[in-house]
Amino acid sequence: MSIRIPRGTQDILPGQVEKWQYIEMKARDLCRRFQYQEIRTPIFEHTELFQRGVGDTTDIVQKEMYTFEDRGKRSLTLRPEGTAPVVRSFIENKMYGNASQPVKLYYMGPMFRYERPQAGRYRQFVQFGVEAMGSADPAIDAEVISLAVSLYKELGLKKLKVVLNSLGDKESRSAHREALIAHFQPRIGEFCSDCQNRLEKNPMRILDCKQDRDHELMKTAPSILDYLNDESRAYFEKVQSYLTALNIEFVVDSNLVRGLDYYNHTAFEIMSDAEGFGAITTLCGGGRYNGLAEQLGGPETPGIGFALSIERLISALDAEGITLPVNETLDCYLVSLGEEAKDYTVQLLYKLRKEGFSAERDYLDRKVKAQFKAADRLNAKFVAVLGDDELKENKISVKNMESGEQVELDLASFVEKFKEIYQ
Ligand code: ATP
Ligand code: MG
Repeated sequence: MSIRIPRGTQDILPGQVEKWQYIEMKARDLCRRFQYQEIRTPIFEHTELFQRGVGDTTDIVQKEMYTFEDRGKRSLTLRPEGTAPVVRSFIENKMYGNASQPVKLYYMGPMFRYERPQAGRYRQFVQFGVEAMGSADPAIDAEVISLAVSLYKELGLKKLKVVLNSLGDKESRSAHREALIAHFQPRIGEFCSDCQNRLEKNPMRILDCKQDRDHELMKTAPSILDYLNDESRAYFEKVQSYLTALNIEFVVDSNLVRGLDYYNHTAFEIMSDAEGFGAITTLCGGGRYNGLAEQLGGPETPGIGFALSIERLISALDAEGITLPVNETLDCYLVSLGEEAKDYTVQLLYKLRKEGFSAERDYLDRKVKAQFKAADRLNAKFVAVLGDDELKENKISVKNMESGEQVELDLASFVEKFKEIYQ
């Protein structure tokens, strides 16, 4: 039997990959405009980074990591997400001492999670994410959210829903935490074992449980918004007013949690409500994590970021019937007729390519008609025809495939002349 691709992974083939490249180009261009710089961290890290940086009570750490021991008996893990590695690198490279602050970074690359594969859920998927570190200005929360929204909007998505919440600061969180424990404790036996574990460790994560989401106690659970102290409330209001000023519509949902102790203030998700999108509608998740750098052994540094996967972005584009402008064209196809002419196209092709044109020739000994067909398939703008006779006369004829116009050019100066007629 032949070897098949691993479950939950996919080959991105020519024909599809152009879409990916286009989205990646858009994301990079947005980061340039918003002034985020790329950072590339390793595909694997010490397992402990994720245990501490993502958290022991999360699904990611408990169930989804690809962890292995290397030959030196170190426990390593294929990165399941990008924030912990970026913050590790921020600390390790002392970026908190950079002259330019805040430090605004973005990453784009594969992440690995051992999940049950289904639509929009892969075991290897590509995340694009940003992290802004060193500023506790609510304007940067709005900036981060608007960057993600801009990517979706500029690609043409219309059916977006921005969901916003505040998790408050430490003080607000701990008041809410007590209220949650008091709320769930008496009936915690009716919840899944994960939730039972979470009750003491991190009761807020109970609100994020997929198994027990319909339990009646979920609907009556104390809302974090009722526990925000004045400072947290003012912060949240500021974020909202900035988003309003940017014309970004949002809804506040107090059940939106990103359940780690060091997450605080802003939490948000961007969802698609396109019909036919399927069960999974979250395209992007993000939030503020002012305690994370400290948790990972660095100085206290405020931070906020988001992560989104290209896979779900593409599903959303498909659900809204959006096609991206990715029609590849070929600048020039060289058709040859006769042995000598065929040989000569080798150098001609190379010259065109050196001058920056995309160019192709026949490699299958095809007849002229089939060569023209090949040129057509490649969407050639121009076809240059060289026969042995033309070669003797030092000429080549060039046809503009769109207008049908045909000219004869001097072979020796073909590339220079081609530049002139090319538009
Ligand atoms: P979910 O609740 O769907 O499992 P999550 O909370 O695990 O999402 P995050 O860790 O916040 O997701 O990741 C941010 C984004 O990355 C998600 O909003 C989604 O777009 C994408 N993502 C997460 N897991 C996968 C996956 N297995 N396959 C494809 N995309 C994913
Ligand atoms: Mg998940």
